[in-house]
Amino acid sequence: MTVRIGVIGTGMIGRDHTRRIQQVLAGAQVVALSDYSIDAARAVQADLAPDATVYETGEALIGAADVDAVLVCSTGSTHEAYVLAAIAAGKPCFCEKPLATTAQGAKNIVDAEAAHGTRLVQVGFMRRYDAGYRMLKQVVDSQIGTPLMVHAAHRNPAVPEQYVTPMAIHDTMIHEIDVLRWLLDDDYVSAQVVFPRVSSKSHSKLRDPQIVLLETAKGVRIDVEIFVNCTYGYDIQCQVVGEEGLANLPEPMAITKRLGAELRNDIMTDWKARFVDSYDVELADFIAAAARGTASGPSAWDGYVAAITSDACVTAQESEGQIIPITLPARPALYN
Ligand code: NAP
Repeated sequence: MTVRIGVIGTGMIGRDHTRRIQQVLAGAQVVALSDYSIDAARAVQADLAPDATVYETGEALIGAADVDAVLVCSTGSTHEAYVLAAIAAGKPCFCEKPLATTAQGAKNIVDAEAAHGTRLVQVGFMRRYDAGYRMLKQVVDSQIGTPLMVHAAHRNPAVPEQYVTPMAIHDTMIHEIDVLRWLLDDDYVSAQVVFPRVSSKSHSKLRDPQIVLLETAKGVRIDVEIFVNCTYGYDIQCQVVGEEGLANLPEPMAITKRLGAELRNDIMTDWKARFVDSYDVELADFIAAAARGTASGPSAWDGYVAAITSDACVTAQESEGQIIPITLPARPALYN
């Protein structure tokens, strides 16, 4: 079966996912495109999907009889309405992060999917599909004993001028929030944020770097350094300390050079290149589940928990060092 996919939002990631479906992956075809800017949708149609129909609205695309499944790749604030419409239509829906821009919005999606009774939503937390994180999880699950601590870092060389302090949580750390929960098979119970000296590369509306301290239900302590003006590269670090040993996320493959009296390894600078393979695997997973009329992988519940945790982290940023409790509602049976 070829899954006929409609893509809503044909900006950077919508275009890239369209390319992936059309040129890299088997089992699916993009048959419909929609964007707030119809010219952007037409450009992607011309470049990548000449047989696709361009719709004026996302709602019309979701309702189209020949669309089996939907990719929501538009601006974050629009996700909730499109995902709810896809659930109402009974169509599998891949939603780029965030699932919604508020915890209540994510809860609306969880409630709608739970009422539907089967999974239809996959959230675009692609790190769970990264080969390095998967290897790390295997080692954490079976070799280093009970996890006690995690030391992680998310560093970007630079960010645009409009990037402000809360975005370090919503746009950057959101990936750690999801992947560390998955890695440890645990939930968060509190968050605290501490700010070191501010980098001179930052600006008045961005306190950079920052350290987010999370505690889990099982008692694991996590520190995540977020440093988005680190200048030297895009660098993702994760070390899990267990009772019997520790395990590190592997570095991306790079040639070690002995050159000019130095031992050198290149460090990536572009985040898109760092997890490019995981985007392929996550969409292949979506296509396989959509062919069965369902969804797997990171769920709406995971998106909801990420939203609750993000809100707590932003409150922690604003409260200057206070420990903010994180309380999750009961998990609907659909997500057990
Ligand atoms: P982008 O380049 O700005 O693309 C978003 C597109 O959506 C734009 O073309 C925008 O049109 C369009 N749009 C806005 N409102 C819309 C609506 N109501 N209906 C349909 N289209 C609408 O942004 P992006 O970088 O692709 O990001 C899109 C989403 O993907 C964001 O939620 C982002 O967080 C997520 N993302 C995730 C990852 C990841 O690592 N998983 C990576 C990148 C992005 P206008 O420009 O005309 O407003």
